[in-house]
Amino acid sequence: MELGDLRAAKLEEDHSINWVTASVMVIFHVLAVAAFFFFTWKGLFIAAFLWWLSASVGIGMGYHRLLTHRGYKVPRWFEYFLTICATLALEGGPIFWVATHRIHHQYSDREGDPHSPIDGTWWAHMGWILVGKSMHHDTSTLAHYVPDLAKDKFYVWLTKYHYVPLTVLGLTLLAVAGWPVVLWAIFLRTVVGLQTTWLVNSATHSWGTRRYTTRDLSTNSWWVALLTWGEGWHNNHHAHPTSARHGLTWYEVDFNWYGIWLMRKLGIARNVRVADLPVAERQAPEAAEISSRPELVSAPPQVQPDLL
Ligand SMILES: [Zn+2]
Ligand SMILES: [Zn+2]
Repeated sequence: MELGDLRAAKLEEDHSINWVTASVMVIFHVLAVAAFFFFTWKGLFIAAFLWWLSASVGIGMGYHRLLTHRGYKVPRWFEYFLTICATLALEGGPIFWVATHRIHHQYSDREGDPHSPIDGTWWAHMGWILVGKSMHHDTSTLAHYVPDLAKDKFYVWLTKYHYVPLTVLGLTLLAVAGWPVVLWAIFLRTVVGLQTTWLVNSATHSWGTRRYTTRDLSTNSWWVALLTWGEGWHNNHHAHPTSARHGLTWYEVDFNWYGIWLMRKLGIARNVRVADLPVAERQAPEAAEISSRPELVSAPPQVQPDLL
């Protein structure tokens, strides 16, 4: 199926609620609130560790900077480890996540983008997951966008059963630590990870600063970066998609980059790609504040020349 067909399917099904996903989201959010009535220090510490493991090691370093953009290389067994960590974030399996994100880069903030604020901030943040089924196609359809992952049987299996590692983890925690820890480390931690990740699609395509004049609405946001372990330097990222480093200066805090830097020091990561700051800015950092860039919406499609 071509992207045009996907878009047509999206328009057809935009108004139908994805009940399975919506039900899971409601349950997770309700139990996340319930966690505050069952506070334990143990729950807080395990939740904090799992937030880092799933959102930074898994989503940021694994799904995004390694699998989607191939900003660096690691041994295959370690790539699998990062991928399993990412499934703990409940953002779908690797083929679904990577295909959706590559489509986002190819059609950023124009027709074909699965989650752009030009369709509404709410849509970009969460609506595209709850409503419509265009981005919930079967693995073989999405495989068109991810031939590198689709030929790996483990990734195909993990995409179909992406909820298995999180379920096993949850049941294990229930057995050894009890319900309060499960509420904190599974439900509240997952909701925090989801909501902060979604800010990258909504907030850093709406508000913040723009260092680079990219043909999309991407922005840099220090507070989204702090909440997402570094993913908030999103304008830098759209300008340099394959760079494993998104925060390009010492003051642009990017924990995902620190993790990749450490992996390189330990000899696990190699061929690490890092973007340079523009020459003019290496002395005097400055970026223009914007609230929105509607004039960019009608710009011609931007195809990242070096997406993979
Ligand atoms: Zn983006
Ligand atoms: Zn990206």
